[in-house]
Amino acid sequence: MNDLVLRAVLQLVWLTIAGFLLNLVFGVETGLAFFGLAAAALLLYHVSNMGRLARWLEQPTPGQVPRASGAWDQLFALLYRYERVKNHDHQELAKTLVRFRQAARAHPDGVVSLDADNRIDWCNDVAEHHFDLNVDSDRGQPIVNLLRQPEFVAYIEANDFSHPLELNAARINSIILSVQIVPYGDAQKLLLSRDITRLEKLEHMRRDFVANVSHELRTPLTVLSGFLETIRELELDPQRTRDYINLMSEQSRRMQTIVEDLLTLSTLESAPSPSLDERVCVAPLLARLRADATALSAGRHRIVLEAAGDYDLLGAENEIVSALGNLVSNAIRYTPDGGEVRIVWRATSAQAEFAVEDTGIGFAPEHIPRLTERFYRVDRGRSRASGGTGLGLAIVKHVLNRHQATLDIHSEPGKGSRFAVHFSPRRLVPVVAAPAVVQEKR
Ligand code: ADP
Repeated sequence: MNDLVLRAVLQLVWLTIAGFLLNLVFGVETGLAFFGLAAAALLLYHVSNMGRLARWLEQPTPGQVPRASGAWDQLFALLYRYERVKNHDHQELAKTLVRFRQAARAHPDGVVSLDADNRIDWCNDVAEHHFDLNVDSDRGQPIVNLLRQPEFVAYIEANDFSHPLELNAARINSIILSVQIVPYGDAQKLLLSRDITRLEKLEHMRRDFVANVSHELRTPLTVLSGFLETIRELELDPQRTRDYINLMSEQSRRMQTIVEDLLTLSTLESAPSPSLDERVCVAPLLARLRADATALSAGRHRIVLEAAGDYDLLGAENEIVSALGNLVSNAIRYTPDGGEVRIVWRATSAQAEFAVEDTGIGFAPEHIPRLTERFYRVDRGRSRASGGTGLGLAIVKHVLNRHQATLDIHSEPGKGSRFAVHFSPRRLVPVVAAPAVVQEKR
């Protein structure tokens, strides 16, 4: 028997005894009247406290448990303690939920929690962006009503979530998502989405690259093996054999150049950034570029060097020579005989420009964004015929990136091109013995 009931029974027993004693002393009416009145008062006390309890239970406001005297006070005190513990647990739970949601919100991937009927319960900002959802207005909506791509609907319906699904983002078609459902709890699910656009692009580039390299090497290899077969099978006169061997060594040189360029690119990709300690003396560098251009042109072009500014560069000399040399050799290779190639160097303390201008074949501006891609050529036949690998400008771009320099390209078909490299002041250092402004023409 609990305390309240025991105390109520005891109170009744006391009332009965007191009524009985009054009956003995003052007669039966007085005894009965006392008992009746006291029992009614007791009943009123219990009923009113029961009413207060019932009212509180209907709307259990935390911290507002009713107070009373006597047996009910003890009961309300117990209730108050219980309510405090519950309230504390509730607050802890709410804090955990907030922390969980904050963690899910901070997650770099999209997270949508779905109930047993695949209705949206909650989602983070990334998921809102990926699926064009709104956590407030879309709560309770079936996910397939909002994500209607047939492949996603089929994925949900198949109920096999062992593999992720690739999907385009709802609003921005160019974003590729990897979407996976993870069941949890009784029948709830988490819908996770990850932006894999960059990975996909890299994968695409990797596939293209392998295909391009294979294609580039296959052509000279086919020629080589064809000639070898011919020499082995046929009785050829010595002159023809020599011609074939010459053609074969041309093809093997070509393969060698491609492989060397590929190795250069891979070294550039993996090597640490060039230091700021190495000085590249610009005057001898320009003289060397001019000499190389003259040798490559073999008198077919007018070559002009214009240089102004008493600054040297800081960086890796071999890389800078290779990048600027590529621009000069392109200008010679893509400029018909009789044209002009101008090498320009202008340096001030604020910036330096190295430019190669030519009066060559040029190209339409739409090629410019892709020109530094590996194996991209405006005219494949012409590039090959002039000994190009399609990797020169890719090397230039890498070297310039590593030296925080930029490349500006201007060109007009039939009129010529201008490739300008801009070095930042961080990469410039005054020459030790300042040379006079050079103005050379040939
Ligand atoms: P390639 O070995 O084919 O020259 P590059 O990467 O050096 O490869 O250049 C890519 C393409 O850019 C070339 O195939 C050519 O079409 C174009 N190009 C580069 N430089 C010039 C230039 N000075 N004039 C005209 N076209 C050029």
